[in-house]
Amino acid sequence: MSSINRSESISRLDQIKVSSYFGCDTFGWRTMQERLPKEVFRALRKCIRKGERLSAEVAHVVAQAMKDWAIERGATHFTHWFQPMTGATAEKHDAFITWDDHGGLIESFSGAQLIQGEPDASSFPSGGLRTTFEARGYTAWDPVSPAFLMNGPLGKTLCIPTAFIGYHGEALDHKVPLLRAMDFVGQQASQTLALFGHAGAVVTAQCGAEQEYFLVDLELYKARPDLMFCNRTLQGARPPKGQELEDHYFGAIKERVLRFMQDLELELFRLGIPAKTRHNEVAPNQFELAPIYEPANVAADHNQLLMEVMKKVGERHELAVLLGEKPFAGVNGSGKHVNFSLGADDGQNLFDPGHSPEENLQFLYFLSSVLLGVFRHGAVLRASVASASNDHRLGANEAPPAIMSVFLGEQLNRILDQLESGAVLASSERLQLDLGIPALPVLAKDYTDRNRTSPMAFTGNKFEFRAVGSGQAIAVPLKVIQTLVGDSLAWMNQRVRELETKQVDRRQALMEVIREVVTLTKPVRFDGNGYSAQWREEAERRGLPHAKNTVEALAAWEQPKTQELFARAGVMSTLEQEARIHVRHEQYAKSLLIEAQVLRELAETQILPVLLEDLGNKAKCLSRLQAVGPATQMPTLQESLTTLSGQVDLGYGRVAALRSAITRADAVEDLHGRTLAFATEVLPACQALREVLDSLEDQCDARLWPLPKYRELLAPLG
Ligand code: ADP
Ligand code: MG
Repeated sequence: MSSINRSESISRLDQIKVSSYFGCDTFGWRTMQERLPKEVFRALRKCIRKGERLSAEVAHVVAQAMKDWAIERGATHFTHWFQPMTGATAEKHDAFITWDDHGGLIESFSGAQLIQGEPDASSFPSGGLRTTFEARGYTAWDPVSPAFLMNGPLGKTLCIPTAFIGYHGEALDHKVPLLRAMDFVGQQASQTLALFGHAGAVVTAQCGAEQEYFLVDLELYKARPDLMFCNRTLQGARPPKGQELEDHYFGAIKERVLRFMQDLELELFRLGIPAKTRHNEVAPNQFELAPIYEPANVAADHNQLLMEVMKKVGERHELAVLLGEKPFAGVNGSGKHVNFSLGADDGQNLFDPGHSPEENLQFLYFLSSVLLGVFRHGAVLRASVASASNDHRLGANEAPPAIMSVFLGEQLNRILDQLESGAVLASSERLQLDLGIPALPVLAKDYTDRNRTSPMAFTGNKFEFRAVGSGQAIAVPLKVIQTLVGDSLAWMNQRVRELETKQVDRRQALMEVIREVVTLTKPVRFDGNGYSAQWREEAERRGLPHAKNTVEALAAWEQPKTQELFARAGVMSTLEQEARIHVRHEQYAKSLLIEAQVLRELAETQILPVLLEDLGNKAKCLSRLQAVGPATQMPTLQESLTTLSGQVDLGYGRVAALRSAITRADAVEDLHGRTLAFATEVLPACQALREVLDSLEDQCDARLWPLPKYRELLAPLG
């Protein structure tokens, strides 16, 4: 595989085939095969396939080969790359250097260093896990994700993807529970396939995450402390032209943006990230990138890496990449559409309806497992994407509602309704004798993907979970989806076996269980407009949970049925769940605290002083004019100055109110009490202050206004 130099390749991008350099910065299978002795390669492969521990000898040989490969390509350092519970990634670089026996400096890297690292992890959130176990965490190489090279300005760093665990095996990151959930759903699905006569299949959860983002000119971004510290604007009057005209969606990509995208893709391809599509999104300066789907853990790693690379490449183009869920009020926010399916090792996609009645029955079984999972555990699915910033997006008229329902499309719904009523069995001409279900008509993909208002939509041969926030780690919702689908399959498989013990024929039993699930889960199916107020009422009547914000949503994690679900599946122990609940609460309060402090400071030190100056200037002009004589008394201006000064004073009042709300909330020590105080006191105080500031922005002399305005931030990037 050839490697390419960035500056050289940029100028010849049109002459180089992507396939010639795809993955050249990763120590993947091909490179390993080329560089490792045959027996070592085979041993490594076996360990990975079977999830076994690597022997010290194998690890040592792999480490040497990896080091040589990395150093040849200009790497000076290595790092264990991991995903702590912050949702971001973490790395601590170590140089490849050591003293030799004669006091000279040599490059070295050992098997032990490859396999295990001990980051000083004391400042990563652990939700109390480490204090409970009185132990520090360590990172362990995850050989399933290839090591990769990250480009620095003057050298490269070898990044080794790792899991982050405590000394007693407790998961301190998002990756370990995801791997466990994949295992769990894979095993249950494999047992389902055995019931359908395909024993021994290996099933892998797959995911493709569409990533939305905004681009903002870097210089403007740096003039907005709120964007820099909070990933969203905390103040900003609506621009005269927002997205009303919808002329941005799928529009021609401007050259500056395209240059960024192409440079980004070059980096992604080198890292083996299969970036597939790029386009303009609905809001001005909003874009999307979608990769080809991959095994869920690889997709999760790649999405984390993608977010990092995006920001870095953006800077090269004087652009800030905004991954926050709602950077601009009144303008569409950004999400991540997490597409998921289950793939068998014979290439079969288990969410694909297939062509024969037999395949259709199996498809309906897997489809039902998703319905059952969302029906039983919709609340925790909602909780998996709850965050202070996603609260501004979910349930607004642009993103899926906070009510978890499933969209299947008219055709499938009709079939399920028939199944439920037994009509399928009655309609004689379509009856398939042995199965009792008709062959499903081929589902047109376009046809099923019309409803944009559903959080969980079936789109032809996969489900798309759309409530995930643009900046979130997809490992978390993926873990939840897989656990609840796996749990449903386990329950359904068990029901089939029970029926069989009562002498029910296998096919009949499978059919019966599907019908049972379809009937039970009817309330969770919804194809209408998810944005409408009627749906909220209807959902309530149906008994679907509706957590309007993070505070309400997080409660789902603490329900006994949720704790039992994850423990039963072996995905997270109760202790591991409690740790994550703790971290969620802390993060919520922390992000609102930062927002409140940034807004207070902006208001008090930048915006209100400017308004006073503006007021002073206007008052000075007015008094000069009034001194001229009766014809220049300007009563209207006089009146508006009175109103304006009242508003500025109101601004000061709200700053004071915010200040005391912060003090009160920050003094609360109890975890839940603190979250609640931030949600019910600090957040409304911020909103109240913002309202005044936004209205004042519209009246202030634009020459004085201290911050880039929305119209500048959202101006086309020419
Ligand atoms: P659309 O734009 O209609 O949502 P696409 O076919 O463009 O559909 O797919 C969007 C995302 O879904 C891509 O990231 C793609 O790789 C992913 N995807 C497609 N098929 C599957 C599948 N079987 N499992 C998981 N993800 C998938
Ligand atoms: Mg899509």
